[in-house]
Amino acid sequence: AKKRDGKNGAQLFDNGMMDHTRARAEIENYIETGLAEDWFDAYLQPIVSLNGRDIAGFEALMRLNHPQRGLMAPAEIINVAEETAKIVRVGNVVMEKAIAHLAAISRLPGMQDSYLAINFSPLQFETTLPARLAALLGRHGIRPQRIVVEITEAVLMHNNPQIRTVVAEMRRFGCRIALDDFGTGYSSLSYLNRFPVDIIKIDQSFTRSINDGNDEVREKSRTLVESIATLSHKMGCTVIAEGIETEDECQTLHEMGLDFGQGYLFHRPQHAAALIERLSTAEQPIARAS
Ligand code: C2E
Ligand code: MG
Ligand code: MG
Ligand code: MG
Repeated sequence: AKKRDGKNGAQLFDNGMMDHTRARAEIENYIETGLAEDWFDAYLQPIVSLNGRDIAGFEALMRLNHPQRGLMAPAEIINVAEETAKIVRVGNVVMEKAIAHLAAISRLPGMQDSYLAINFSPLQFETTLPARLAALLGRHGIRPQRIVVEITEAVLMHNNPQIRTVVAEMRRFGCRIALDDFGTGYSSLSYLNRFPVDIIKIDQSFTRSINDGNDEVREKSRTLVESIATLSHKMGCTVIAEGIETEDECQTLHEMGLDFGQGYLFHRPQHAAALIERLSTAEQPIARAS
């Protein structure tokens, strides 16, 4: 949109639209080529207990490794993948890679019971998903109890009976269900009542706000997070805080009674091979990483 013809604003708007369309087409192209050329992978970020900081599990995070542009994070890709329904194929690839990584990690001492959390978009809950997941797990000798299905309110808001049926089927099969980015949506609390959930992941915006420079914001945020933790525990759910970056945040969340955490303070999302290397060379693979 750099070339202006000076006629009117509409022309500029159209150019902007063109850029947007072109950018989207480019990403669609990356997705298709990435599927064909095996550019997709699942990076893994450990989830640790706030008590001893030992690793309880790993979240699989989609990455596209473009030969020229390098590693691309999901933000650029997921939206386009969802709008074009390509997320179904991308999600299947990420799921397969992540489960293979978990099988490899399981061979490390102390890691045989670690779990794998996988993010799912609404379109991924096809009726064939539970059987495909079961087959994959069987092939790798992994118990379904070691899989966590991460969904957001966006999934539940669809209010689609098929999604509910498929999620319920995966839970019956032994997987746990985590509600991701909790607290950022419109009516998080009502979902707790209507949908079987095992884990609540408190969004990283809350982790940030509990140490806000403004006294009032900080105190209110702390009250809110503490109440969410109490409520979740009373509902029988485990609580995970997302995006922990500082010792202060970790300390405060631990004092508030949170069970688990995830964030750059402990471990960044990593390539499975790098993570395995790191875990196998550590003196005590599951001991605190400091
Ligand atoms: P999410 O599921 O809430 O994942 C957590 C995000 O926080 C990840 O971003 C992770 O890299 C980032 N993160 C972890 N620790 C920290 C920290 O200490 N500080 C900060 N600032 N960020 C931290 P990422 O990998 O860019 O993924 C973004 C979102 O994309 C995910 O949010 C999830 O909603 C979606 N996503 C990722 N992988 C997949 C996938 O395979 N399938 C689907 N459907 N969605 C995915
Ligand atoms: Mg997640
Ligand atoms: Mg999240
Ligand atoms: Mg998120």
